[in-house]
Amino acid sequence: MSGAASDIDVIVVGGGVVGSCVAGFLAEGGRSVMLIDDGRIGGSNANAGSLHVQMQSRFMQLYPQNVPGMQRQLPLYPKAVRFWQAFENKLGADFEIRKNGGLMVAETEDQLAFLRIKAARERELGLEVEMLDRADLDRMAPYLGPAVIGAEICLDEGKLNPLKCNAAIRRWLIGLGVVLREGEAVSALSQESSGFRVETARGATLRAGTLVLATAAGTTPLATQLGVHIPARAEPLHMNITEATAPMIGHLVQHADRMITLKQFSSGQIVIGGGWPADIVGDRDHPTVRLDSLIANATLARHIAPQIAPLRIIRTWAGVNTSVDGKGVLGPVPSVPGLHFAIPGDAGYTLGPFSAQLVANIVLGRDPGEDMTDYTPTRFA
Ligand SMILES: Cc1cc2nc3c(=O)[nH]c(=O)nc-3n(C[C@H](O)[C@H](O)[C@H](O)COP(=O)(O)OP(=O)(O)OC[C@H]3O[C@@H](n4cnc5c(N)ncnc54)[C@H](O)[C@@H]3O)c2cc1C
Repeated sequence: MSGAASDIDVIVVGGGVVGSCVAGFLAEGGRSVMLIDDGRIGGSNANAGSLHVQMQSRFMQLYPQNVPGMQRQLPLYPKAVRFWQAFENKLGADFEIRKNGGLMVAETEDQLAFLRIKAARERELGLEVEMLDRADLDRMAPYLGPAVIGAEICLDEGKLNPLKCNAAIRRWLIGLGVVLREGEAVSALSQESSGFRVETARGATLRAGTLVLATAAGTTPLATQLGVHIPARAEPLHMNITEATAPMIGHLVQHADRMITLKQFSSGQIVIGGGWPADIVGDRDHPTVRLDSLIANATLARHIAPQIAPLRIIRTWAGVNTSVDGKGVLGPVPSVPGLHFAIPGDAGYTLGPFSAQLVANIVLGRDPGEDMTDYTPTRFA
């Protein structure tokens, strides 16, 4: 569906989970909204459906400078998971949300020591986390292989099915009358007396008084055109999924020191990821799988949960994650009236609808209900 821009109050650029939800919440708030997306594979149409809450060891190791920011944003994660549950009810949809807890497993005493320190800090910040020994794991997670000696469990973690979520969110947007322009890149942005001029690669010129950039890894060049610096990095990642099998993995599983996420969908398929790299190739910057990532990721998965070994991997895919500084970039830029950013932070699908609600409330002139100082887009100036 597409439509005329003359009566549009807000243009949202970026149709991932965040931009879509911002558009929906603004439409519910009485604004006429246009949502534009260029159709590239971003995070939301590639993501693995983990509802992350505890700090991910992968991000702590890759970006140690971001750990203070990650800790400050941590209290938002359990809220974001509860928001997904409420959102599922509101939309009357089945997102296949399961909150069975998430394990971060250890194979050495050093890894256990790291998890103990991490758990203590997370408890201070309000998370429900506990340390488990091997006897606990034998009872609760017998699928774990003999190399695992203990784990941290975070009771707020879980999983959902992003294919179902994305489809339901799209139906919600259409029902709300959000004008969708898809497969159309925004190529130029400028300020005018009445707001913003938005030009697209198809030659359209659109106008609105309010502009929300929910463009994830595509944000930096667009923000620059409006004189704002947002250092958003693209992180292409690899995913695998197995054929279906009997239910065996109830938790979200991660590792204290190695790149792995494991979970089993309601379909019985096991989704294996955890941050193995993919490539970006071609003139359309397409994320593309790597054989070495496929092999290493699957080998590690069968080491952690040996019953995976006989299962066939039936599909692999790649997508683009976005990394800034470990915190969301959410809210207005006072020097450019009407401009707002909506980038969720690490584990951005988990944070997506909640982050979108925060930004939508600000646009609508409502109290977002959180102190937004940490997330201001002006912090990189
Ligand atoms: C393989 C993979 C697995 C992941 N698994 C999980 C997980 O299990 N749990 C979790 O919480 N998070 C996960 N993530 C991260 C999560 O998916 C992202 O953080 C989240 O989806 C970000 O949502 P978004 O709406 O901000 O961005 P995106 O979903 O990336 O959407 C941004 C959109 O903006 C569009 N865009 C950009 N520039 C322009 C432009 N100039 N014109 C028009 N459109 C533009 C892009 O094409 C894209 O569609 C994963 C990411 C990847 C890559």
